[in-house]
Amino acid sequence: MKIEVLTLFPEIYDTLNVSVIGRALKNGVFEVEVHNIRDYSSDKHKRCDDYPYGGGAGMVMTPQPLHDAIMAVDPDRKFLRIYLSPKGKKLEQSVVTELASVENIMLINGSYEGIDQRIIDLDVDMELSIGDYVLTSGDLASLVVINAVARYIPDVLGSEASTDEESFSQGYLEYPHYTRPPEFMGLSVPPVLLSGNHAEIAKWRKNQSEIITKEKRPDLL
Ligand code: SAM
Repeated sequence: MKIEVLTLFPEIYDTLNVSVIGRALKNGVFEVEVHNIRDYSSDKHKRCDDYPYGGGAGMVMTPQPLHDAIMAVDPDRKFLRIYLSPKGKKLEQSVVTELASVENIMLINGSYEGIDQRIIDLDVDMELSIGDYVLTSGDLASLVVINAVARYIPDVLGSEASTDEESFSQGYLEYPHYTRPPEFMGLSVPPVLLSGNHAEIAKWRKNQSEIITKEKRPDLL
């Protein structure tokens, strides 16, 4: 998979170079390329924003730098072009797994009050939101999308980790985890987990998943 990112703040993506995602990028399991929208501005001061027609607070990202950046990065329309926006489709597990099967993804990040509507009308395939709140730019949303989607790309997670048995994968929240020591501050690990009986452990975990989901997220059931 290749992900092209268009942003006014390329340095935010330095955080991709750590942990599991950093290792996968280093090993070439998938690719992320970050482009500074400002580099495409034809304005002599490289401006990328202007006052909104009709008045109102804040600035709007102008169409020219964005359109030229999109055309330069994806001249043959091979990428699924996603604009991160609070008005978009909500990012959920089903959207994450769908995106994980897409070969080429472009993440277009707005700032200020957002981008000129004509870019959405002309160049964008999909608007995607990471939740019902407003961020200062799309970049943290893009990092969330990259992280969540990358986990479903084969070989990104080591063999020690799996996406099969975790929250949302089977429609439930995950069961609780315990590790050593067997007793901590007076609290013991549930004895079944120490029993070595795999069938009983699986039964306990399934039951715990159901209880926790019913308690915390009944809407999932
Ligand atoms: N004026 C816009 C509105 O009220 O819908 C909000 C603009 S926001 C300050 C600036 C940029 O952050 C947006 O263009 C979008 O790219 C990004 N953004 C903000 N909240 C987001 C969210 N919940 N999900 C995805 N992107 C978001």
